[in-house]
Amino acid sequence: MKLTADYHTHTIFSHGTGSVDDNVRAALDAGLFAVGIADHSIAHMAYGVKKRKVGSYLTSIEEAKRRYDGRIEVKAGIELNLIGLDGSVDIPDGRFDTLILGYHKTAMCRDLKTLYAFVRGSRHVDAVTQAYMRAIQRYRIAIVAHPGYGVPVDFRRLAQACADYGTLFEINNKHEELKIEDLRLAAQTDVRFVLSSDAHSPKAVGRVPNAVKIAEKAGIALSRIVNVSEE
Ligand SMILES: [Zn+2]
Ligand SMILES: [Zn+2]
Repeated sequence: MKLTADYHTHTIFSHGTGSVDDNVRAALDAGLFAVGIADHSIAHMAYGVKKRKVGSYLTSIEEAKRRYDGRIEVKAGIELNLIGLDGSVDIPDGRFDTLILGYHKTAMCRDLKTLYAFVRGSRHVDAVTQAYMRAIQRYRIAIVAHPGYGVPVDFRRLAQACADYGTLFEINNKHEELKIEDLRLAAQTDVRFVLSSDAHSPKAVGRVPNAVKIAEKAGIALSRIVNVSEE
């Protein structure tokens, strides 16, 4: 299978090593028709895009859209943090094309109850799964990033919510925690999947060998993965 788009890549605005332009050029070299810039959002304490830099982040992406118009589609994405059991996320601005939702231990939670549930995740799988589901219901989440990374979830219920709201279930190349059996549980629903590099350097853009391997092992049909072609 051949990757056609990579919607989840990082730049120097969070903790990637390349610029927006570097990632777009790498995506062109990889033969993709679309690339998403999706840096960590503002609640990520270590690497989030600084609040005062959200404007220049979006401007850089807008410039790349114009510069590469007709050659590759560039998406203004952001990797939001799940920060509340009520489904709160840290959207800094309404101007994004692609909202990606992830859980990261290093994001500032809204309240202590949420922090407690996330830290003791294995005892709070229901509450955590519901937090994801509420976020999907409240916002137009395009992709749930690396499900199960950092905190356990009920894969089947999460995938069902994704299917109901048209949210894509990510198979992440960088985080390999997703187990075959978890992916199979997700696949029991009619959710659709997306493969992402989660590249933190330009050379990793468009490269998803680990994600392909796990998708194949779990028996995911190509027709259910939105960003691959047969060749
Ligand atoms: Zn992430
Ligand atoms: Zn990421």
